[in-house]
Amino acid sequence: MTDRRTQLAQNLAQVEERIAAACAAAGRKREEVTLIVVTKTYPASDVRHLAELGVRHVAENRDQDAAPKAAQCADLPLTWHFVGQLQTNKVRSVVKYADVVHSIDRTRLVTALSAAAVRAGRELDCLIQVALDAESGAVSGRGGVAPDGVAALADAIAEAEGLRPAGLMTVAPLAGPYAGRPRAAFERLREIATDLHAAHPAANMVSAGMSADLEDAVAAGATHVRVGTAVLGVRPGLR
Ligand SMILES: *Cc1c(COP(=O)(O)O)cnc(C)c1O
Repeated sequence: MTDRRTQLAQNLAQVEERIAAACAAAGRKREEVTLIVVTKTYPASDVRHLAELGVRHVAENRDQDAAPKAAQCADLPLTWHFVGQLQTNKVRSVVKYADVVHSIDRTRLVTALSAAAVRAGRELDCLIQVALDAESGAVSGRGGVAPDGVAALADAIAEAEGLRPAGLMTVAPLAGPYAGRPRAAFERLREIATDLHAAHPAANMVSAGMSADLEDAVAAGATHVRVGTAVLGVRPGLR
């Protein structure tokens, strides 16, 4: 049996090759795209291997798993991204370890995160999660605000103490007009990001693309791709 470290190194090399090829195909510089490895369901020992292999950005989607894992990895030079749906009763824990939250989709969450960040003496980069399949004004079942809610949410983040509007995040929709069309979805996200950037010049992150569709995301201008399965393997159970 290949040891875990070797396996992760091989998987990382393959993902790196895919990102480099996608950048080349899109005429983009490799440095324009940051790899975030999504370590959800995998142990802290994997996070440690990844850090030793040069990974600097990791993401988690459930506070219950992320908080102890981040604590065990506090000595590592990592930026922690929170990418899951976030309940307001979890924000006090999340602000202790997260540097970037990708899943802001309602003003109540902005208020709660701001209060928690101030209390913890931390500054958080906040991405608005866009649900490209949500109806006007609505928040989708998988999280994310409809495109027409982005501007108001960004203004709320900009006004909130301890929070900075940093950009947008999306997950390719499984339903609606963009189902099965990740490239078109990510291009739409990029358009919304351009409008956001005009209003908030520091909000320049575009977080899109996972193991299955990272090439589409890079082609559409993503600055951050979130890759789990292709680095760590297929997760037991769907999450
Ligand atoms: C799990 C997850 C990913 C990674 O998905 P893979 O298909 O395993 O690469 C990316 N983004 C979010 C929000 C996730 O929850």
